Amino acid sequence: MKDPGLHCPVCGSEKRENKRYPLYVCATCSANIEDESGRQLAITNTHEGDGIVITYADTGEERKSRECIVQGIRCFARQAHFGGVVIQAFDEKK
Ligand SMILES: [Zn+2]
Repeated sequence: MKDPGLHCPVCGSEKRENKRYPLYVCATCSANIEDESGRQLAITNTHEGDGIVITYADTGEERKSRECIVQGIRCFARQAHFGGVVIQAFDEKK
């Protein structure tokens, strides 16, 4: 079992350790996020409110949930501490 703190929880590629967001998803995987039915999502960093808005890429409609699916793995998006967006996998083993 690979250490999810050192490997992307989606694709398993090596990543830098991040103590604040240990289960963050690598940049390659973060670029391709979907909802539960496979619709492509886009994340916009608004720098206002809680910082991010998730929209459907096809319609531009806002998605209320912060959850997203990355290659079948349930994840959630949030604004990173120093700005930008971080996508993390849920820790379903706990
Ligand atoms: Zn990855």
